[in-house]
Amino acid sequence: MKTKKLTFERPIIRKISIGISSKFGTKTEFEPITHIDNIPVKELVREYGSPLFVISEKTIRETFAEAKRAFETRYPKVQFAWSYKTNYLNAVCNIFHQEGSWAEVVSGFEYEKAILNGVPGNKIIFNGPYKSESDLITAIDNGSYIHIDHFDELFTLLEIADKHKKKPKVAIRVNMDTGIYPIWDRFGFNYENGEAWEALNRIMLSKKLSLVGIHTHIGTFILSPSAYAIAASKLADLAVSLKRKFNHSIGYIDIGGGFSSKNTLKGSYLTGTDVSPSFDDFAEAITSALINSQIEPSNLPVLILETGRALIDDAGSLIGTVVANKKLSDGRNATILDIGVNILFTSFWYEHKITPAQDFSHHYENTVLYGPLCMNIDQLRESVSLPPLKKGDNVVISRIGAYNMTQWMQFITLRPRVVLISTKGDVYVIRQSETTKMINSIESVPEHLKLKK
Ligand SMILES: *Cc1c(COP(=O)(O)O)cnc(C)c1O
Repeated sequence: MKTKKLTFERPIIRKISIGISSKFGTKTEFEPITHIDNIPVKELVREYGSPLFVISEKTIRETFAEAKRAFETRYPKVQFAWSYKTNYLNAVCNIFHQEGSWAEVVSGFEYEKAILNGVPGNKIIFNGPYKSESDLITAIDNGSYIHIDHFDELFTLLEIADKHKKKPKVAIRVNMDTGIYPIWDRFGFNYENGEAWEALNRIMLSKKLSLVGIHTHIGTFILSPSAYAIAASKLADLAVSLKRKFNHSIGYIDIGGGFSSKNTLKGSYLTGTDVSPSFDDFAEAITSALINSQIEPSNLPVLILETGRALIDDAGSLIGTVVANKKLSDGRNATILDIGVNILFTSFWYEHKITPAQDFSHHYENTVLYGPLCMNIDQLRESVSLPPLKKGDNVVISRIGAYNMTQWMQFITLRPRVVLISTKGDVYVIRQSETTKMINSIESVPEHLKLKK
């Protein structure tokens, strides 16, 4: 007798997301986000439109206080400098400045923003591989700290110092092996091959520049506190050598930014909240390296921190609306949101936490999340488990405060509003939505190309 052949069914591989278990299994998203800082999401959408960036002043101040406490309880002299490129909306910068942060800028444009925000020149750190001669002259006149990136910049500064009879305040940026690969050796002077030491010698021998500090920025989204311990000891060694050879004490060691936020990197098995070290972990590694170094205890330099991402990511949310649902030809569900990758740049790196903004059933389905752009790259998530969403439903994307409101671009569509919810619970528009008129206002059409009516 012939037995009936069983039909083959392909195996299904389903990723398990880590999260709190319920009787429905493990899910990363289990409660709707109906309010942000007690303001109903639906009300925000009604008042200010969708998509909408929302920044929580309360979260910024709380996160900052936590970071400050972690460092100040462990080290006598700590100074934060707000990394403008991480989020340079003026209202955001000013919260950090009110909290006592200096400004850390990496271009003439950012420098000008800091000055216009009212930051005194001697509280601005000027980093970056390209500072024009006029940028440098302005920074020197204002008494800002110039972090030299390469020998050509060092020679330019020496020329300017001669010509203008000024003594610029400088530090050098150092790159080094901290066990984080690839090494960011394109910025600054290398430690291991002796280049950083040579730059310091040239500065000291010239007598034309005032060497006030040493700086490094080892990378971004660093999950390993021990890398910072290595960086801090290498900078401390340079400071000790300067003291020994030139009897020169530097004013500060600037350890840069790069602490990870609680976001989940794409391809990471565990979520960001599980793997991201705390401010205490980073502070412990950095401050013990400095305290245990050969620097004389009475002469410990100020520790400067340029932390960006870890201080602002949690304070930003992006509200969006479901535009449509579709079935793809292979049977997968697809949901189209009004949020494109042009305004959510970090979706290239993160698996953002995306949560419905209204009550939902406890059925979940895997869906592809697309943005509204007519471009194949406009995909926010390749696969995310969400309750079925209807056209018009809202979602909240969490932890988007870093790098989106600066790297966003006006592409195909206009950039939306940004609102700030103050600690008192008032809502302020801190950046208008763009209009076609704004975009057109910086263009012009030559007379012969104008269309005749
Ligand atoms: C971007 C940048 C920072 C901030 O980095 P995060 O990863 O956001 O903390 C700090 N310092 C310099 C020099 C930078 O370029």
